[in-house]
Amino acid sequence: MAAILIKNGRVIDPSTQTDKIGDLFIENGTIVDRLENAPQQTIDAAGKWVVPGLIDVHVHLREPGFEHKETIETGVAAAAAGGFTQVVAMPNTNPTADNVDTIRYVMDKARALRSTRVIQSCAITKGRKGTELVNFETIMKQTGVTVFTDDGDGVSDDAVMEQAMQLSASLHAVISQHSEYSSISKKAAMHEGEVSKRIHVAGQPIASEDKMVLRDIELAKKTGGHIHVSHISSANAVQAVREAKAQGVNVTAEVTPHHLHLTDETVLDAGTIAKVAPPLRPGEHVLACRDALADGTIDVIATDHAPHTLDDKAGTIDTAAFGMVGLEISVPVLLDLVKQNVLTPMRMIDAMSTAPARVFGLSGGTLQPGVPADITIIDPDMPHEIDPRTFKSKGINTPFAGFFAPGKSVVTIVDGNVVYSELNN
Ligand SMILES: [Zn+2]
Repeated sequence: MAAILIKNGRVIDPSTQTDKIGDLFIENGTIVDRLENAPQQTIDAAGKWVVPGLIDVHVHLREPGFEHKETIETGVAAAAAGGFTQVVAMPNTNPTADNVDTIRYVMDKARALRSTRVIQSCAITKGRKGTELVNFETIMKQTGVTVFTDDGDGVSDDAVMEQAMQLSASLHAVISQHSEYSSISKKAAMHEGEVSKRIHVAGQPIASEDKMVLRDIELAKKTGGHIHVSHISSANAVQAVREAKAQGVNVTAEVTPHHLHLTDETVLDAGTIAKVAPPLRPGEHVLACRDALADGTIDVIATDHAPHTLDDKAGTIDTAAFGMVGLEISVPVLLDLVKQNVLTPMRMIDAMSTAPARVFGLSGGTLQPGVPADITIIDPDMPHEIDPRTFKSKGINTPFAGFFAPGKSVVTIVDGNVVYSELNN
């Protein structure tokens, strides 16, 4: 296999708190101290960041069942182009990924692409109906998967959720919760507040998220299970996570690029394209999420990449599908937050690589010699306008179209293979 030399990059590795100009060596698919042989390929990384491969723990690949929105192949291509070496796929497919066969189908198909690694998460409950738990033990033994989520819906039933959290404690599984009581949210199109009232759109009370996060923290306390709050978006929920962590509760959280950057006012211009679950919130919630990400209360940045066709996004704000794509806008949008001094480069890379690996028990998140060479190279100084027409994803549903970003990821290396490159060397 090829030996690769990545030269003169700014090597940022949160796992060792390294931030220095230097070289990185890859031999036989592994990061090594030095090369035994002359490199077949040299990548000039001067002026660029060389970081452990980015990991997105929340993407919708849509296959099987919704291949008109995205396929494993197009989703993986979008992930590689966005700088991601590993993604966790959500189980709201058809059939639901609540069984060994469907999980294996997705992971086998993704593996054959020899690109970004795909972990297919499993539903918590059969058919994601919220009533009957899947057999955690069988799934874990036969697929190796340790992440369970009913994403798209929250598990409302207290007894069902408590059982899931008990299994999390005894089997060391991660329960990733889409925190939404549909009995409270009524699946309304946007955040209930001044903006929704102004445009006479039915809003969803923020209590829908807050109450479920509070309940799940109590269940984590009671059972010792690991609750991971998906796409946190509310200031109260963030504060609850902060206080729970201080008490040693086994809770972690993720936030999306859009909840860090956009407010509910975006709906005024972008309409259905800005419809997402949880909904975009007023500015004070965005600032709370930024603070919590910076101080580590929120561990992880995840995109909730949710491709839809334009038909799915047409119609009225009440009938259009929830969701926006994220894989190819995430690094550009986060670089903007670094430029605004909301985040340090170290914290950005930690939240996009080292922390997701740690929280979800995945490989990667480090550049230490001996680990598989999953590496992302980012050009922080490559100003460009986000143009969905250039996306590898089938989904172009993003309110970040036309957003002026300071930079982007330019090379993605998985297992020592360059799976995406915009460089000429
Ligand atoms: Zn969700």
